[in-house]
Amino acid sequence: MKYISTRGGMAPLSFSDTILMGLAPDGGLALPESYPQVGRAQLDAWRDLSYAELAFEIIRLFATDIPQADLKAILDRTYTAEVYGSVAITPVKRLHDGLVILELSNGPTLAFKDMAMQFLGNLFEYVLAKKGEQLNIVGATSGDTGSAAEYAMRGKQGINVFMLSPDGLMSPFQRAQMYSLQDANIHNIAIKGMFDDCQDIVKAVQNDHAFKSQYKIGTVNSINWARVVAQVVYYFKGYFNATSSNDEQVSFCVPSGNFGNVCAGHIARQMGLPVQRLIVATNENDVLDEFFKTGRYQPRGTANTWVTSSPSMDISKASNFERFVFDLLGRDGAAVAALWAEVDAGRGFDLGDKLAQMREQFGFVSGKSSHADRLATIRTVDAEDQVVVDTHTADGIKVAREVRLPGETIVCLETALPAKFADTIREALNRDAPRPAGFEGLEDLPQKVTVFNADADAVKAYVRQALG
Ligand SMILES: *Cc1c(COP(=O)(O)O)cnc(C)c1O
Repeated sequence: MKYISTRGGMAPLSFSDTILMGLAPDGGLALPESYPQVGRAQLDAWRDLSYAELAFEIIRLFATDIPQADLKAILDRTYTAEVYGSVAITPVKRLHDGLVILELSNGPTLAFKDMAMQFLGNLFEYVLAKKGEQLNIVGATSGDTGSAAEYAMRGKQGINVFMLSPDGLMSPFQRAQMYSLQDANIHNIAIKGMFDDCQDIVKAVQNDHAFKSQYKIGTVNSINWARVVAQVVYYFKGYFNATSSNDEQVSFCVPSGNFGNVCAGHIARQMGLPVQRLIVATNENDVLDEFFKTGRYQPRGTANTWVTSSPSMDISKASNFERFVFDLLGRDGAAVAALWAEVDAGRGFDLGDKLAQMREQFGFVSGKSSHADRLATIRTVDAEDQVVVDTHTADGIKVAREVRLPGETIVCLETALPAKFADTIREALNRDAPRPAGFEGLEDLPQKVTVFNADADAVKAYVRQALG
């Protein structure tokens, strides 16, 4: 299996080379030359596999340059009951009206990003050891990605993490989760500024090509192909968990920001998983809802991106969305490159003539949720089902209930646990969110963090000194 770019300008690459690359050299995103097809016989054979076994069957179709025994070993040590709290890894629960919640947030940082990031940590360590290389990750986070990356990379050979976060702007829980890590290869850098200032510094570091190659700088952001492919696995697992036979179809409802999670659902559907519809749920930052309703994609700047109570979806430029558009346009890289030239010029684009195809051929629909909807959903689910859901998952449940068709089974993806978003849970329920075992007293642990002004040179100097 070889990988090409959504903009058509990259010589095909192996899986191992693809996962160490950020953007493709032509500015596009990597995708396999074609999606492996999964037929009924394979679905039947896969239905009762454990999570790690299923992950192996799926990922080996994509990671063809990794010896199978090695891949199996990596997956066996990634998807364990010890890390995810249960043998099921991603159990489901059913609400009284039949909605299914797929639990994806039982990993070390209580958000679905652990599902892929834990795999990425083990995979990077393996690939780097094979190549005799080192990787120094410089990233920016507003909360969930940074902590998932740090917990996945802590103590790993050949990897250092320099994670920039906005000083004082994350929740106390999120701060404590990251800054309490004492591992020598994890570096927390708090920037006096906003998330966008952190992101600008990461871009400045990436654009300093001499620095980047001398210090082997890489990223772990949501466009990384290994993260997408690891997410494909739980769509299959969620399907098997929510149905009793491979004759059934389900729909998935996915809280979305960067389109990374639901992009994996699109790929699972293209592979042949019996998915009826893919429901994209946004918060007040509704660029994607606008696209699926009108065909118009108009990314917005930070001045028009609202700070909401589902903060991990406060995104107005969906980085993984380009992968879907590539498929929508019949995999025409030149056409995708032309559209993104419009995006880069601030104009966006209009695919209104493809609305029917998006719905009928690709199964996409969308909806949005507001702060008031979120509070109401958290209250209703708590009252009717005695389940406390987090703010992002609540956005998904709200939209799923709104668009549900008669007889449709909808699996709502749980993207975080409520303990991470304590303030909004208190606002909705007048009590504290349940805190999973092992997280008591997290905020009292000693913290390791260095504070800088929003200055890329200061960060580079720190990286240089830390790497000796
Ligand atoms: C990252 C994140 C999302 C958005 O996922 P995308 O892949 O960016 O669409 C939703 N909810 C939570 C809790 C997240 O951490």
